[in-house]
Amino acid sequence: MEQSALKKVKALFLDMDGVLWADKKEIGNLHEVFESIREAGLTVLFGSNNATKTPEEYCEKLASFGVSVQPEQFFTSGIATVYQLHKDFPHGPKIYVFGSPSLKKLLRDNGFEVVEENADVVLASLDREISYEKISRAMIEICEHGAKFYATNTDSTFVTENGWRPGGGVMVNCVETCTGVKPFVIGKPNTVMIEMACKANGLNPDEIMAVGDRYETDIAGGINFGARTGLVLSGYETPETVPHLDPQPDLICKDLAELVNALKELQK
Ligand SMILES: [Mg+2]
Repeated sequence: MEQSALKKVKALFLDMDGVLWADKKEIGNLHEVFESIREAGLTVLFGSNNATKTPEEYCEKLASFGVSVQPEQFFTSGIATVYQLHKDFPHGPKIYVFGSPSLKKLLRDNGFEVVEENADVVLASLDREISYEKISRAMIEICEHGAKFYATNTDSTFVTENGWRPGGGVMVNCVETCTGVKPFVIGKPNTVMIEMACKANGLNPDEIMAVGDRYETDIAGGINFGARTGLVLSGYETPETVPHLDPQPDLICKDLAELVNALKELQK
């Protein structure tokens, strides 16, 4: 990629876990980083495979770091799931959610019926209260009632302030293993979220940079969409994994602050 192609970038599509924070701990000084993004005149949009929080909850979390943003700037795999399910089931499906209370709330708030049995859709996502009962229910709905299988994401792990912990992919694998059915996966590297973000903001793929800490989801999703890509080494990938990534991201930086400065230099 010619570095001049990065001059066209008008917006950042930011992953959150491992880019903005490690669980409750911010990465760098987020207030200063977002001031710097504002000075650069870049639009900020957020895209996360994490479907355990609503946009309002993310706004509150960013506000606690002195960053003011609006719910409309967020495109999580939960939001993209709403978009995809409305598209695939125009009459409103009954959904069995193997996931968090926030994801259930998001679906209910968007007019879906969340049920405990007789579902049209089984939606698997990160569930901190995973149980044999829930896996069994998902299996029964898919194998005996013909429910379609969706997953918000298949991330194997996510970062917390105490280190790496099991991600939503673990729940998805449980259901996939006992049913033999592969889910429709909404999250990155699928492009549903970044496509929604661009549509809502009138952006072309080459005007947005997908920024993330994990190559196989954040960067691969950006490449699949035809966006520019920026890898930060503040989360999953390390200087040791970088040489094995192919194709290479357009920018590779220590963290988001360094990436914003690099973009600013290139756009001068
Ligand atoms: Mg991440």
